Amino acid sequence: RPALLWFRDDLRLSDNPALRAAIERGPLICLYILDTSPDRRPLGGAARWWLSRSLTALSEAIAAKGGELLILRGDPAELLPRVARETGAGYVAWNRRYDKAAIELDKSLKATLIDSSIEVESFNANLLNEPWQVTTKADGPFKVFTPYWRAVRERGEPSAPLPKPRQLSKARLPAALRQQALAVSDLALEPTAPDWAGGLREAWTPGEDGARQRLNAFVGEAIAGYREGRDRPDKPSTSRLSPHLRFGEISPRQIWHATTAALAAGDTPGSAGDVEKFFSEIGWREFSYHLLFHNPGLASVNYDRRFDAMSWEKDETGLKAWQKGLTGYPIVDAGLRELWQTGWMHNRVRMITASFLIKHLLTDWRAGETWFWDTLVDADPANNPASWQWVAGSGADAAPYFRVFNPVTQGEKFDPKGVYVRRFIPELARLDDKFIHRPWEAPAGELNKAGIVLGQDYPKPIIALDFGRQRALDAFAALRSE
Ligand code: FAD
Repeated sequence: RPALLWFRDDLRLSDNPALRAAIERGPLICLYILDTSPDRRPLGGAARWWLSRSLTALSEAIAAKGGELLILRGDPAELLPRVARETGAGYVAWNRRYDKAAIELDKSLKATLIDSSIEVESFNANLLNEPWQVTTKADGPFKVFTPYWRAVRERGEPSAPLPKPRQLSKARLPAALRQQALAVSDLALEPTAPDWAGGLREAWTPGEDGARQRLNAFVGEAIAGYREGRDRPDKPSTSRLSPHLRFGEISPRQIWHATTAALAAGDTPGSAGDVEKFFSEIGWREFSYHLLFHNPGLASVNYDRRFDAMSWEKDETGLKAWQKGLTGYPIVDAGLRELWQTGWMHNRVRMITASFLIKHLLTDWRAGETWFWDTLVDADPANNPASWQWVAGSGADAAPYFRVFNPVTQGEKFDPKGVYVRRFIPELARLDDKFIHRPWEAPAGELNKAGIVLGQDYPKPIIALDFGRQRALDAFAALRSE
């Protein structure tokens, strides 16, 4: 009998435990379902674009090995058992996801399939550890990263990744199913009018091969000095593996072992310290999944419920200016424009832009989380809400509420020559370094020389930093004393 492999957030052939298990059970049916059930948070625009490209790459990779990817659209609760029934599959496998809706769906699917005498197995493909495997001494979940990460490190090295299968044997599809099979283009995941994805196409190569190239390029070069360099948005100093990880085109195990091997063989300019720091960032991703698993409402509910009493401003104009990169603060605007153009933003700038929205504009972190969800190619069900809550101060092990990033000093520290700002705000390109992060302080002569009319070519600041900061501190302090 055929074995059914259900691809979800694991769009790769190598180190794919569900695939490996399914191959051993019989001729394969590889299935992807674009989930349109109301229980699922719909993917944002940028993630839909990525998914489209990634599915194309996966489908080609499967075909090159002799298999075929069956693509359907609808509610998996209905479609998966139907495909299993109609193909006569005796075994179904998938790799786990960790958001509440997915866990509930998996549970009910397992029950349905077992009732039909079909064997089902699920696997961990995308985390170093399952969220429930790492526990405190009292057997509870962690709330603080450092002891969490120490506990992970004490568990030793992650297991070695599985190789890519040499060949895939294809099961025959019944005619009724073949008729319903969709091409990736039928899913209409990519924007057409307007086509805003030009910058995304230029910046990324979705798919397993693209992920591997990114990893090799990073470990072979850019990792040098990562420990400090990772905070510099003006330099290509981080891996940019996040969207590849998000869609499971590469696993943390693969990253871990490839990096460790390169370090041991002297095949990387990165130091042991750089590698350790890189691993601990992957650890933050693991920690986010740990938090999501233990707090299923992470994307909508304050982890620290005291924040429920927060009186957020409803500043629609401010939110719009922030989304468009028109706040008048260059590092904030450059970040939001990088996001819009490329579907990605540097981590330091994510923190600065998020802090500006939450603190200076006193806007509910959920509005920012929603915008990032729609515009990031790496929009992640765990990392995105966990990071937003971290910046807000409502999260686990969060930044203290009184930490209000100053976008001017942050810009001057991490983008000292304004290289990053100039890349994304061409209207400021000719402004002197001295004023690049504070154009409103530039004398008229300097602005003239740079060809800028403030308030016309580039906005004046939409809010005074001192005012915004004090308002936030007062609001947050009121909360704390309640
Ligand atoms: P690298 O520095 O090369 O790190 C390697 C990997 O480690 C990343 O790919 C990522 O998977 C993980 N990682 C790195 N930094 C963090 C971090 N601070 N928290 C959690 N994991 C991390 N990351 C997402 O993947 N998806 C999101 O939706 C997302 N939203 C964010 C929202 C805000 C407000 C903030 C402050 C951060 C967010 N992050 C998110 C975390 C982080 O910014 C990105 O993971 C990182 O910028 C990705 O770039 P990279 O792959 O070059 O990272």
